[in-house]
Amino acid sequence: MDCIFCKIIKKEIPSKILYEDDLVLAMLDINPMNNGHTLIIPKKHYTDIMEADDILDYMFKIAKDLTPILMDKLEVKALTYLINYGDSQQVKHLHLHLIPDYLNENKHLKDIDEVYNLLKS
Ligand code: AMP
Ligand code: ZN
Repeated sequence: MDCIFCKIIKKEIPSKILYEDDLVLAMLDINPMNNGHTLIIPKKHYTDIMEADDILDYMFKIAKDLTPILMDKLEVKALTYLINYGDSQQVKHLHLHLIPDYLNENKHLKDIDEVYNLLKS
């Protein structure tokens, strides 16, 4: 199957991994909407949210675990959890977006390596 996220899981494609266990992987989005834009993906291939089962609970558990780390290290006070479905879903492997919301602050987009190093420190 030609799925980019499955390739990331198999380490055939590099990614900026923030967290990983047997069930999920959390990484920085390659084209972030904001500094710290993170994706949580299940290791099993589910095309979309309609195919998903209990894994959703686990993905949100990991999202909740990552939330204070993102908010503290990036000094951001709001965050949006998002799952696209249908025509707005570009990558057909289920994923949950964690998008820090800097509200009205005009934060410039940092280099992804800089954000990654900050979050891993
Ligand atoms: P969606 O519209 O919800 O399917 O969004 C897919 C997201 O995956 C977009 O925000 C992309 O920037 C992101 N993305 C695509 N390819 C990669 C990749 N190789 N590594 C990290 N994020 C990716
Ligand atoms: Zn996949």
